[in-house]
Amino acid sequence: MRTFDGVGSTPRSGVGTARWYRPDADLTLPDRPDPESVDVHAELDRYEAARDAVREALRDARDRTAERVGEEEAAVFEAHEGFLDDPTIVEDVEAAVREGTPAAHAVADRFDEAVSQFEGMEGRMAERADDLRDVRDRLLRALLNRESGGSTAADLAALPEGTVLLAERLTPSDTAALDPDAVAGIATVEGGRTSHAAIIARSLAIPAVVGVGEALESVADGETVLVDGEAGEVVVDPDEARRDAVREAGPDAIRERVETADGRPVEVAANVGGEAELGPATERGADGIGLFRSEFLFVDREAPPSEAEQYEAVRASLSAFPDDRVVVRTLDVGGDKPIPYLVLPDEPNPFLGRRGIRLSLDEHDDLFETQLRALLRAAATDAGDGLAVMFPLVTRVEEVERAVATVESVADDLASEGVDHAVPELGAMVETPAAAFLADALAERLDFLSVGTNDLAGYVMAADRGNDAVAEYHDPLHPAVLRALDRTTAAVEGTDAWAGMCGEMAGDPALTELLVGLGFDELSMSAVTVPDVKRRVREVEFDDARSLAADAVACETRGEVLDVLGLDDRES
Ligand code: PEP
Ligand code: MG
Repeated sequence: MRTFDGVGSTPRSGVGTARWYRPDADLTLPDRPDPESVDVHAELDRYEAARDAVREALRDARDRTAERVGEEEAAVFEAHEGFLDDPTIVEDVEAAVREGTPAAHAVADRFDEAVSQFEGMEGRMAERADDLRDVRDRLLRALLNRESGGSTAADLAALPEGTVLLAERLTPSDTAALDPDAVAGIATVEGGRTSHAAIIARSLAIPAVVGVGEALESVADGETVLVDGEAGEVVVDPDEARRDAVREAGPDAIRERVETADGRPVEVAANVGGEAELGPATERGADGIGLFRSEFLFVDREAPPSEAEQYEAVRASLSAFPDDRVVVRTLDVGGDKPIPYLVLPDEPNPFLGRRGIRLSLDEHDDLFETQLRALLRAAATDAGDGLAVMFPLVTRVEEVERAVATVESVADDLASEGVDHAVPELGAMVETPAAAFLADALAERLDFLSVGTNDLAGYVMAADRGNDAVAEYHDPLHPAVLRALDRTTAAVEGTDAWAGMCGEMAGDPALTELLVGLGFDELSMSAVTVPDVKRRVREVEFDDARSLAADAVACETRGEVLDVLGLDDRES
């Protein structure tokens, strides 16, 4: 048995037969010719023909992915088309060709420049570098007339049942081509858990461990490999005990609501980023939606969605969960989520800039009001009782007061227009130290607080959530973060408000006892982890969990916290 550590990306386990995917066609460029000898017109034509071919392939991939995985995941190929036809890239490539650079070299130069810009950016934008490489390689293959060498995407769609796929890295198109019934697991040398490929694998519920490093290369085709996406381990030639653990952890959904062994109810909800994810959320037995990332309605398009479009999207979520709560987060852009039609001047440090509720209140109150109109109207429909609305990246009480006042004025407008509407439950995300310190004041003015640990861990620890170099600091298990969580839940205790968590931390079954013990009433996560967390909640004794949480909060280092939780050191 040999074990390799990586980053668990889909928290499921699977075992099967290793098979390497090595698609790398040789994309080495020929030597640069003398500019005088380049036929500029022919090269411009070749560039255009290559773009046409790639555009068609991307649209095919988009349609296939929409059908097999979901609209949300398919949107990545629209983003790829955006890169392909990005006017500044196209202009720069054409200008270079006019100066005597062959099209392939001009494409490689321009995309490499863009790749390095994205690599140098903050947060998830860094992972868009993978998307750019995907588009660059498609263009180069077309320009150099090189089909993929080795295995191809068609091979990926037809892998035999029980395959564990090993690869240097997978592109979103590769991942979307996989058949989740055939692929028992994925392990990659490179890649992070928020790359688009990892997100697609999660939506397909394929066990995945990414970023294993070069050591993975020592695994040979045909060896038996276990991928443990929860522990972030790849085990070659696993023993019977490890294999049994995989067999026992079936994906069976628990449909009913759950409570701890001693009767404390905990809602286990799903995070969704679009309508296509509602199906998996209901299939896996989620008790509603704890985070509807409404910005997914706004990205990858030329203009904002209309009130009607937003209303329909919210209604669709409410009717998927007619008896449950659906928490819609108002538009959360800025920082690592830019939107082309919102002209946001460059900021030297966008994570400390105009993000979340700041943009809705200060610069885009028109978008905010339209969104609130759609939400208040949806709240008056059949399943509208379950609607809740929360505001992202809150730091000040005044913001909450202004947001609530805007809700009230939108309600007045709708009333004077004679339009059916209702005011839903209102809440704030706790994603900043300020919000955690002010949790009592926020809870006084709102119905609930929901902790976004992805951002909270970043701001508490002053560590960019997407920067590998400081990944060890971006640590939700650091006592400083745990104390912020404790402060938040303590602030709602004994009030009518409830506390939830919708950051990635909530979906880790190894932390369920801690979070229940801290007093969270609701945990919301990627749909794939809902059954495991529900199973875990049922095993927890609340009194034990409370003292475990108190011990963890009293710790001074991550190591002490891990000891208290009985966990080995691992990726957080
Ligand atoms: C968070 O910050 O934890 C969160 C849930 O929001 P997002 O990941 O969308 O920033
Ligand atoms: Mg956030």
